[in-house]
Amino acid sequence: ISELGKRPDWLKVRLPIGQNYKDVYQLMRKSKLNTVCEEAKCPNLAECWNNRTATFMILGDTCTRSCGFCNVKLGMPNELDLDEPRRVAESVETLQLKHVVITSVNRDELKDGGASIFSEIVKLIRQKMPKTTIEILIPDFKGDENSFEIIMQNPPDILNHNLETVKRLYHAVRPQAKYERSLDLITWFKKKGLKTKSGIMVGIGETKNEVFELMEDLFNSGCDIMTIGQYLQPTKNHLPVHRYVTLEEFAEYKEFGLKLGLKAVESSPLVRSSYHADKHAELI
Ligand code: SF4
Ligand code: SF4
Repeated sequence: ISELGKRPDWLKVRLPIGQNYKDVYQLMRKSKLNTVCEEAKCPNLAECWNNRTATFMILGDTCTRSCGFCNVKLGMPNELDLDEPRRVAESVETLQLKHVVITSVNRDELKDGGASIFSEIVKLIRQKMPKTTIEILIPDFKGDENSFEIIMQNPPDILNHNLETVKRLYHAVRPQAKYERSLDLITWFKKKGLKTKSGIMVGIGETKNEVFELMEDLFNSGCDIMTIGQYLQPTKNHLPVHRYVTLEEFAEYKEFGLKLGLKAVESSPLVRSSYHADKHAELI
């Protein structure tokens, strides 16, 4: 129990049980694949895995960046796994996923930041599972348009890139990222005709007005879909939770976003970037 007191009831998480959960778990281990669901200790793991939905985390389990909220290992990553696209595509087929989310760690040491692996995965999934809708949640590739072009060689159905937090908190929360650079990325892909998506965590120190401003920025940058969820501290070495945002405030954000003109806003405590992503795909 932190100085904030007990976690509110709406943040209680169900235990991961059930046959579908076991099937997905075994498949991931057998195929030597990583999921965000596990790495980020996602609170929706039981629900998503039992619904046979998962978010693949590609390009290894070690990140070159050091975001203050993130539980992914920091360090020098292993050599690129060129066979990973094949294994991801085969897993999507085995699980018969209707919608798949692919994301990655940051690989700032690579020339294209890993864009070619994203592109290859989208191509292979399209070949094996043409009806599956594909969402990729990409890093900023340091704003390099050559990497963006590689992504466009095999475009996804939804292009997701998270802002994570309000501009004022970037230094503490995403020290190697830039707020404007992330907005520009969304605009770039929107201009290419893709459906775009972004998300933030709240309760990490932002004010309500700052969230409203961020939502306006996102809308003006061409963002279609937005996710907002409560920040939960993964370990005591990570940034502390500043406050538990109330259900009413989450509802206010949703209402504000829809009024702005965003096509969908998922806003509630346990929402994560890929939560209910299959429903967003239906909006396409
Ligand atoms: Fe995995 Fe996303 Fe579901 Fe969390 S919300 S369990 S990361 S698919
Ligand atoms: Fe975690 Fe992504 Fe930040 Fe890396 S770039 S530390 S994976 S949030």
